[in-house]
Amino acid sequence: MLSQEISKRWLEFFKDRGHTVIPSASLVSNQPGAMFTIAGMVPFIPYFLGQETPEFSRATSVQKCIRTLDIDEVGKTARHGTFFQMAGNFSFGDYFKAEVIPWAYELLTTSVDQGGFGLDPERLWVTVYEGDDEAYDIWTNKVGFPAERIQKMGMGENYWSTGQPGPAGPDSEIFYDRGPAYGKDGGPAVDDDRYIEIWNLVFMQYQRGEGTGKDSFEILGELPKKNIDTGLGVERLAMLLQGVENFYETDQVRPVLDAASKLSGKKYHGSENADDEGYEDDVRMRVVADHIRSSLMLIADGVTPSNEGRGYILRRLMRRAIRAMRLLGVTEPCLPVLFPASRDAMGGAFPVVINDFERISRIAYAEEKAFLRTIESGTERLDEAVKHAKASGQAMVSGEEAFTLHDTYGFPIDLTLEMAEEAGVKVDEKAFRELMEEQRHRAQADAKAKKGAHADLSAFRELADERGSIFTGYDELKTETTL
Ligand code: ATP
Ligand code: MG
Ligand code: MG
Ligand code: MG
Repeated sequence: MLSQEISKRWLEFFKDRGHTVIPSASLVSNQPGAMFTIAGMVPFIPYFLGQETPEFSRATSVQKCIRTLDIDEVGKTARHGTFFQMAGNFSFGDYFKAEVIPWAYELLTTSVDQGGFGLDPERLWVTVYEGDDEAYDIWTNKVGFPAERIQKMGMGENYWSTGQPGPAGPDSEIFYDRGPAYGKDGGPAVDDDRYIEIWNLVFMQYQRGEGTGKDSFEILGELPKKNIDTGLGVERLAMLLQGVENFYETDQVRPVLDAASKLSGKKYHGSENADDEGYEDDVRMRVVADHIRSSLMLIADGVTPSNEGRGYILRRLMRRAIRAMRLLGVTEPCLPVLFPASRDAMGGAFPVVINDFERISRIAYAEEKAFLRTIESGTERLDEAVKHAKASGQAMVSGEEAFTLHDTYGFPIDLTLEMAEEAGVKVDEKAFRELMEEQRHRAQADAKAKKGAHADLSAFRELADERGSIFTGYDELKTETTL
C-alpha cells in the first residue's frame, strides 16, 4: 500500500466517523516559540488550551512534520525521519477513550479489502499508563485485547503534559512486533526496534499544576472538557505494509536513496548493524534520502537557507546530504539529480513540489554551489595548515586552525579530520572541541539574555515531553553531528 493510500484511508475512516478533514498546515509553525510543526496536534493547540473554539468538535488530518530532534537517529534506526507525515484524529471536548481505542484497533486490523490496514492483530502490542485503569479496561474488555501484550508504564513513558500548568493526561501507544529476527522478546518495554511504535493516543484529561520535569508535578483535577489527540506515523505504517525494512525504503523516500546509489556507484546493502557489510555507506544513503526530502518540503513551505533560525536548519540538512554524498565519492553537484528524484516521489501527495519546482530547485542548486565553493576555499586553507604542520615536525593541525575552518569558512570538522588523515597528519580534536564548547557557552549566555527580554515568546517552548520537545526547535541542532 502506497503512503498516499494510507493517508487517504485514514482520512476516510475518520470522516465516516464524523470528523472534519483539515488539510495539513505548513511545516513552518505559527505557534509562539515553535520553529516547525513537529506533530499533528500543533495547529490545534489554541483549541486544546481553550484559547479558541473550533467550529467542529472532531477533526482529522495528515500533517507534515519536521523533527530535527531525531536527526541523529536518521539512517541508523529503522523508524526516524526528519520529515514525516503524522496522521491524526482529534476530539475537542467530544468523544474520549471509549471511542478512540476501539477505533484505533478497528482501523489497524480491518482487512485491506474492507478499507482498513489489515495488520495481524497477533503482532500488535500496547502500552498504557500504569495509573490508567480506564484505558486498560477498554483495551482488555471492550476491544478484547490480550492482557499479555499490554504493558503498563510510568509517567516518563505514558504521560503527556505541556511542561507547565495546563492540560495533561495519560496516553496509550500501539506497537507492531516485527519478529524475533529484529530483536529481543519482551514487548516494547524491552526493545523499541523490534517492536515499532506506530500510533500514540493521548487522553487530555487533567489540569496540571506547577512542578518540574515529566513526572514531578501536581494534578489539580479533571479538565471540564476532555480532549483526544492521536498521531500515527504514515511512513512507519508504510514500511510495515510495504514489507520493507525501514522508513527510508518506503515508496516516497526510496527513489532518492536509489538515485544516490546510482550517482555514487555504491551498492545499497540495506544493512542495519554497525558491523554489517556496507553499513557506513548505507547510513549515508539513508541520510541523503531523508535530508533531501526534508529540504524539498521545507523549501516548498517557504524556508530558504540562511545562517539562523529555520533557514539554518535547512542549510544544515542540505549540507549534511551533500557531505554524505561526498563521502560516497561524489564531488560534483548532486542536487540536480537528487531533487528531481524526490519531487517525483512526493509530487503525487504534494503537487506543490511539482508546480513550484522551478523556484525550489533554483534555491537548492544555488545553495549547493555556494557550499561547494566553501569546501574549495576551506580545502586551500587546510592544505596550507597541513603543510605548516608537516614543516614544523608536529604533524598536527591545531585546534584553533580547525575551529577557524569551521567557524569562518563553514568547513565541517569531519571534513577537516578526514582530509587531514588523507594527508597523513592529525588534528588536535580535543582543543577543537574545547573551543566549540566555549563558543556554545557564549551562545547560550546570549540566548538566555534574549529569552529574558522575550519571556512571553517562550511560554510554550516546553509543551513537549513524550511528544518530542515540540517547542525546543531553536536549541535542537546545537550538537555538532558528524557523518
Ligand atoms: P519514537 O519513540 O519512535 O521516537 P515518539 O514517541 O517520539 O516515537 P510521538 O511523539 O508519539 O513519537 O509521535 C506520534 C507518532 O508519530 C509515532 O507513534 C510515530 O508513528 C510517528 N513518529 C514520531 N517521530 C517520528 C519520526 N522521527 N519519523 C517518523 N515517524 C515518527
Ligand atoms: Mg515513543
Ligand atoms: Mg510516542
Ligand atoms: Mg521520538
